[in-house]
Amino acid sequence: VLLPIGVVTAIVLTSSVIYFARLQVSLPTQIRQGLRRNEFYLEYQPVVDLNSGNWVGAEALVRWRRRDGRIMQPDEFIPVAEHSGLIGLLTERVIEVASKDMGTTLRDAPDFFLTINLSARDLQSGGTLEKLMVMARDSGARPGQIVAELTERMLVDASAAKSVIKAMREQGLRVAIDDFGTGYCSLSYLETMQFDCLKIDRLFVEAIDTEAATNRVVLHIINMARTLDMKLIAEGVETEAQANYLKSQGVEFAQGWLFSRAIAPDEFLKGLA
Ligand code: C2E
Ligand code: MG
Ligand code: MG
Ligand code: MG
Repeated sequence: VLLPIGVVTAIVLTSSVIYFARLQVSLPTQIRQGLRRNEFYLEYQPVVDLNSGNWVGAEALVRWRRRDGRIMQPDEFIPVAEHSGLIGLLTERVIEVASKDMGTTLRDAPDFFLTINLSARDLQSGGTLEKLMVMARDSGARPGQIVAELTERMLVDASAAKSVIKAMREQGLRVAIDDFGTGYCSLSYLETMQFDCLKIDRLFVEAIDTEAATNRVVLHIINMARTLDMKLIAEGVETEAQANYLKSQGVEFAQGWLFSRAIAPDEFLKGLA
């Protein structure tokens, strides 16, 4: 059968338009679909007590398993979710999944803590606080076992955030300041807000093994945390030398590939047992 050339062209054009239109479904739309299809899941990176070497907590880190099987990392989609107003739904999902994965562990191990990363938007209302409290209640955990991780950048412009952070602490949740040293948090802000915990950014941990001037900064961070009565978690610990140094300076906790990468919940629970 011979089709006139015009018809063939039309078919080719139409099908390629459809093809490209599908490819170009925007990332926010894909995130929305991903939420509907339950494509977001969590991995957990152990938080290690530097003195005992025991796993005493975990950080929940979100991943996205796309329909084609490709895994997308949070740095690729969290900023998009933040800018498109979808972060609230994503955070809600993260809290639900964390509750499913870790609820029993939180209840059975009352000293075990779980840290959850929040975005600036999550502090614009009390909604997230509410969800974290529900998580604690449903799992039978103490609120103090749940630690909200905030970054300095979220706090810059922060009057609403301030009252939510205060409310979180009043309800017994704990609050950590993540990636410390990469933003610009004033010391007076740290002092007035009274965070429970400070996470030393990987950048400063990396510098410990080098001659860089940054390797002294970590000492100042440690001293400041002491003065303000905050516990310390060092991030991105990759070498024994880093771990030993941090331990010798009295840093309580650490995370990093030296100990474990972020792993699936069942693997995490096996390691914990
Ligand atoms: P973060 O909260 O500072 O998390 C630490 C990141 O460092 C994680 O990357 C972790 O896998 C990685 N990491 C851990 N140990 C090492 C190490 O020894 N060496 C190196 N080079 N890297 C290490 P990941 O999972 O890709 O997460 C990236 C960022 O995405 C997180 O940084 C956090 O800011 C954000 N994020 C992750 N999950 C969530 C979430 O559920 N909600 C929100 N709002 N943000 C999230
Ligand atoms: Mg974090
Ligand atoms: Mg961090
Ligand atoms: Mg980070």
